[in-house]
Amino acid sequence: MADREFRVVVAGAGVSGLFMAETLKRARIDFTVYEKGSEVGGTWRDNTFPGLFVDVLSRQYEFPFQPNYGWSRKYAPAAEIWAYIKKVARDCGLTKFIRFNEEIVAARFTGGRWHIETAKGGTDVADVFICATGFLHKPLYPDISGRESFVGPSFHSARWDHSVPYAGKRWGVIGSGASGVQITEALAWAGCDVTQFIRRAQWVHIRENPHTTWRERLKLRLPFAYRREQRRLWQFINESDRWRLEPGAQREAMEREFQSYLHCIKDPELKQKLTPDYNLGCTRIPKSDRNYYEAVQLPNAHIVKGQIARIVPDGIVMADGTQVALDVLVYATGFDAHAYMRPIRVTGLNGITIGEAWRDKIYSYGGIALPGFPNLFMLYGPFAPVNNVPVPLGLDQEIACIMRLIAEARARRAAVAPTAAATEKFLARLDAAFPGTVWVGGCKNWYTGDQRTPVLWPLPQSEHKTFFAEVPAEDFEFLPAGHGD
Ligand SMILES: Cc1cc2nc3c(=O)[nH]c(=O)nc-3n(C[C@H](O)[C@H](O)[C@H](O)COP(=O)(O)OP(=O)(O)OC[C@H]3O[C@@H](n4cnc5c(N)ncnc54)[C@H](O)[C@@H]3O)c2cc1C
Repeated sequence: MADREFRVVVAGAGVSGLFMAETLKRARIDFTVYEKGSEVGGTWRDNTFPGLFVDVLSRQYEFPFQPNYGWSRKYAPAAEIWAYIKKVARDCGLTKFIRFNEEIVAARFTGGRWHIETAKGGTDVADVFICATGFLHKPLYPDISGRESFVGPSFHSARWDHSVPYAGKRWGVIGSGASGVQITEALAWAGCDVTQFIRRAQWVHIRENPHTTWRERLKLRLPFAYRREQRRLWQFINESDRWRLEPGAQREAMEREFQSYLHCIKDPELKQKLTPDYNLGCTRIPKSDRNYYEAVQLPNAHIVKGQIARIVPDGIVMADGTQVALDVLVYATGFDAHAYMRPIRVTGLNGITIGEAWRDKIYSYGGIALPGFPNLFMLYGPFAPVNNVPVPLGLDQEIACIMRLIAEARARRAAVAPTAAATEKFLARLDAAFPGTVWVGGCKNWYTGDQRTPVLWPLPQSEHKTFFAEVPAEDFEFLPAGHGD
């Protein structure tokens, strides 16, 4: 029997929310997950555009408590990732804990507990509130005049309209990030007339994505083989990502490799358009499984580089006056990566809201907690390792730490929050680590947005692990029961 006196509410049933849910279930803690969508999966439910494959090895994108021996490819297609996530929810019996189509709109810490409100007017009360609302969840549309005037179908990459047939249409794709590259590549190989509108070139990783063999799948089922392989993979992550963190031979080798991908472009003008002018890794690196650079050389594919002046009913007009006629327009323009749990109105001690707390800069303690917001936790909040650690691995470390903090707070009959001093110390440690990493130095990226430094983890993954394993109790204050307005 779960402990009915102590209750947790989780917002979101994506990878983070489900990982949290399974952990709470195993700890026999009473909890409910609120999910505004009608299905689990978050990112993998919402992003169904052609060409989307996971960018880390499929085997790195597994919940540690639910091995998958049957990935079809080295890097699985998005639909397979989503199917796996749905299967995990089903097999672990998590679905019954989830309230679908229920969006949390407000959460206030008062009388020592979190008082939750949903968009449908529902209320709930919990000792702990956990935001698993995703960092790439709220689609961002570009501020280009005339957007509403376009007469053909137009949609964001995270809201793909599958009723639009590929054939016989002139497709426009705005954006050169990971989604823009994958969509353009897929449409080009499908024989569509596609124009990609880019403001700057991206470093694109041209990779092989072989099918897995039955031998490989079988091998994983041998005694101890799975655990051994997973250990080897985590070791590999730790060592292979040093190039992002410090200059040196590994970074130079990576730069040479990425430059070599561009050699297949025959037209010098196109090659120049697609050659980035900033350091490799500064932005999220798009992964290409069917050679994007070959795809954009097909006669039906076009790259238009420059500033879009306006959108008109039948196409796009560039700042230099060039006009491109289009039938379908796709906004591969990314997400509001710094919204985190917002627009939920989260109110902590002294009536301070999250919006007020973050007015000047976004901050957190370890990406999981905030001073002044007792018993509030975030999964993949600000400064989580959004680039250099596969998400399930980062979650494993964050969730273990959150569970220890919850246990400690329960034992003391108190609510827990990091101290302001410990949070400052954490941020200062990250600040000191940024110089020399690939994320600083002359490139605009969504990690930074309008912040002073990129909002990510600039240290090795091994330090993420030790940080969470060794979080000291003195970094936290424990507020006696009944605290709050
Ligand atoms: C196109 C794309 C490709 C990606 N590819 C990779 C990849 O290859 N490898 C990788 O490691 N990462 C990738 N990512 C990052 C990806 O977002 C994470 O890997 C992971 O899916 C995040 O899971 P999450 O549960 O934290 O967030 P999400 O998947 O965003 O889930 C958040 C959930 O919370 C729900 N929610 C939000 N607000 C509320 C609310 N107020 N009330 C109730 N429910 C709410 C949402 O509906 C959603 O279901 C990709 C992201 C995108 C957008």
